[in-house]
Amino acid sequence: MSRARRSNDWGFPRWRGYGSSREATTVRICDRHGCEEKGDCPAPKAPNSPEKWYFCQQHAAEYNRKWDYFEGLDKAEKEQRAKAERAENAGYAEAQHYGWSGSGDGSRTADEMRALDVLELEADADFAAIKKAYRVRAKAVHPDVKPDDAEAAAEFQKLQVAYEVLRQAEDRREWKG
Ligand SMILES: [Zn+2]
Repeated sequence: MSRARRSNDWGFPRWRGYGSSREATTVRICDRHGCEEKGDCPAPKAPNSPEKWYFCQQHAAEYNRKWDYFEGLDKAEKEQRAKAERAENAGYAEAQHYGWSGSGDGSRTADEMRALDVLELEADADFAAIKKAYRVRAKAVHPDVKPDDAEAAAEFQKLQVAYEVLRQAEDRREWKG
């Protein structure tokens, strides 16, 4: 292909007829400057960017190898991104600490599930239902109602712990929005 023809391919994305002019098919050409291969390997222009380069397999591999995550970002953006990543990681670590990842259906932790069991509630019980169940049960075994009853005292304590686990989980959810 002559240099004169090449100028027709200028700009992005680069499209041109593939093969002979009789062939109707239009294919995308590798975005790598000077490459004439078919560009069917999309690669994001920037992290999380919907804009993509389209490379041939060879240049896609090269791009991925050399890809600098921070390339093309100015200093302020770099710092912001690094900060955002640290915050994300911290949030993840915090979630791990509280055992958030242990939820059966993704919304309740193992501790919360046990607490709900104590209150004889289902996983989808809302906080109003939790509060109500706790109050009814705690009232029945309250030390004022059943003084000198070790079994009632133990049950009361169990209910308090269960309620506290669920209340704190609720607080975290509200705080996180
Ligand atoms: Zn290429």
